Amino acid sequence: MRYLSTRGQAPVLDFEDVLLTGLASDGGLYLPESWPQLDADTLRAMQGMSYAQIAAKVMEPFVEGWISPDELLAMTQETYAVFDHQAVVPMVQTGDNDWLLELFHGPTFAFKDLALQLLGRLFDRALDRRGERITIVGATSGDTGSAAIAGCAGRANMDVYILFPHGRVSEVQRRQMTTVDAGNVHCIALDGTFDDCQALVKAMFNDVAFRKRISMAAVNSINWARVMAQSAYYVASAVRLGAPDRSVAYSVPSANFGAAFAGYVALQMGLPIEKFIVATNANDILHRFLETGGYRTTGVQPTLSPSMDIQVSSNFERLLFELHGRDADANARLMARLSQSGGFEVDASAHKTAQSLMASHRLDDDGIRAEIARMHGQTGYILDPHTACGTAAARSAGLDPAIPVITHGQAHPAKFPDAVASALGKKPAVPAALAAIMEKPERAIRLPNELAAVQAFILGESN
Ligand SMILES: *Cc1c(COP(=O)(O)O)cnc(C)c1O
Repeated sequence: MRYLSTRGQAPVLDFEDVLLTGLASDGGLYLPESWPQLDADTLRAMQGMSYAQIAAKVMEPFVEGWISPDELLAMTQETYAVFDHQAVVPMVQTGDNDWLLELFHGPTFAFKDLALQLLGRLFDRALDRRGERITIVGATSGDTGSAAIAGCAGRANMDVYILFPHGRVSEVQRRQMTTVDAGNVHCIALDGTFDDCQALVKAMFNDVAFRKRISMAAVNSINWARVMAQSAYYVASAVRLGAPDRSVAYSVPSANFGAAFAGYVALQMGLPIEKFIVATNANDILHRFLETGGYRTTGVQPTLSPSMDIQVSSNFERLLFELHGRDADANARLMARLSQSGGFEVDASAHKTAQSLMASHRLDDDGIRAEIARMHGQTGYILDPHTACGTAAARSAGLDPAIPVITHGQAHPAKFPDAVASALGKKPAVPAALAAIMEKPERAIRLPNELAAVQAFILGESN
């Protein structure tokens, strides 16, 4: 498979280059040249397969020629064996036709493990082939950093540096990063905000000499391999409920739109998906877009669901490109308008296409607390504050009751004990693996919010 940029000015690349490049050189995002198809017989044959088998089948065409089907299957089997549930992504029924897809059975208890556990292995393979090493540098407000660390810890060909805002991530989130005992993992507690962390990572990328010297790479959600890996759980859950012979709908708590776009990929591959429901918290840029056709940034508002507190959705560009019939020039013009004036409107036909694919819903903090309490009262199930946005959105969508609605369970509630306690008056039970990190020694360096200090630390450590 070959990959092209959503802005049309970067070279067409093969899978390995797309994996290691991340962002295209024209500022765009990579997408496969065409959508491979999963026909009805192929989907039916998946009904008895394990998650690792389904994931390998879904990803096969995207990596064809780079890794053989047998090696890919061996890799997905190894990847998903570390999850703490046999089904990898088990489902819980919460209503007549309402389902929760639990995506939090990986090492850091949030859905990002499904892609990042695989990404570490894909990186290692690519770097082995090239005889190269990379230095991964990322900023985190919580979940991405720990999942990236868990995916890269102890891998031979990479060092990983994660910057987080000192004193501004939860204790669980911090300990999930700082208690990992691996020589190639380096946590930096920065005296600053998450935006400061992100600005420093950007500045390091833009310092070409520095970037080359350390072979800097990124693991943020614009990497195509993460989207590809996430498409698998759409397919696995839909075939369990009867696809291809029955359609399903998905409610997806969304921020950078990586998880939601992975569903769009599954739809393009032939999975019968009736509708996507894009669930947002008070940071509702995606909801406003689907309502009005206008995409406009506002300031970020801190909420009870911090992993959805974002200003712009980086993966949304992939959908825009698709909504405009893959017209890279039209897409590049919209993205230029976004950076110049903070927003744009799409034309009526693109807006109509978006609305035919997706419904949306916004839930503020009071709504999140009410939804956690409602679900607990009706079923005994404890939602995390991100997933609560999803189940509330699923109910609001008013779809045909014959169509199963699958809400993505994005994180384990024990990762967000204070939000849960503010809704239920009690904290959720803590799984043993999460309790264990509360006792382990922590390792992090505290650095000032200065580019030179962070660069000196990275150069010193990676020598
Ligand atoms: C990352 C994350 C999200 C947002 O997912 P996107 O792919 O960025 O849309 C939602 N909930 C949780 C718990 C997350 O960690």
